[in-house]
Amino acid sequence: MKTDFLVIGSGIAGLTYVIKIAEKFPNKKVLVVAKNQESNTQFAQGGVAIVQNDSDSFKKHYNDTLLAGDGLCDEEIVEMVIKEGPNCLAEMVDWGVEFDLNSGGYFDLGKEGGHSENRVVHYKDITGAEISRAMHLRLKKLKNVTFLTNHFVVDLISDHHLQIEKAKNKRT
Ligand SMILES: Cc1cc2nc3c(=O)[nH]c(=O)nc-3n(C[C@H](O)[C@H](O)[C@H](O)COP(=O)(O)OP(=O)(O)OC[C@H]3O[C@@H](n4cnc5c(N)ncnc54)[C@H](O)[C@@H]3O)c2cc1C
Repeated sequence: MKTDFLVIGSGIAGLTYVIKIAEKFPNKKVLVVAKNQESNTQFAQGGVAIVQNDSDSFKKHYNDTLLAGDGLCDEEIVEMVIKEGPNCLAEMVDWGVEFDLNSGGYFDLGKEGGHSENRVVHYKDITGAEISRAMHLRLKKLKNVTFLTNHFVVDLISDHHLQIEKAKNKRT
């Protein structure tokens, strides 16, 4: 098979890339390969931690994350992920993902272990399944995307590997 873009994995990471690339290049082919129908994304329950209101701040979320990470976090990545949170949430809402709202019409923010503030947006306790549902619905509208499920990627051979082979053959 020939494709312009090959995406391995159909969890939230893979599908986010697929939606963006397939919508940006409607004339290019996107092939998604996944080893099974399910992913961890579908099983995520509690929700997604995102700074949402004035009583919270990126700094508080950052400090909570480093504390919970106990020295294992890459601080630059933590900062980037936390700051991108509100944009990603807006993107998910635009894709049709539903999140629970409180009586005032704002996101119903849960508080989970390790967080000093209420900042967990969720859809009941099946947030991952709701995110997957909305993403797959959006993907169905994209004619340039093909899915191959039950396909296990064993090895990736890139130009880099072919060049090594060529160099070896030259030597012998
Ligand atoms: C029970 C549970 C509850 C969770 N609750 C939360 C929560 O409340 N909040 C939260 O933020 N996070 C939660 N998580 C974590 C969250 O689900 C993951 O961090 C997130 O879904 C990872 O997304 P991903 O796209 O990177 O990977 P995944 O969703 O794991 O997707 C990986 C994809 O790669 C494919 N793949 C892997 N290897 C191969 C291969 N060799 N060949 C072909 N395909 C391959 C898989 O088939 C799959 O499609 C939870 C996880 C679980 C399991």
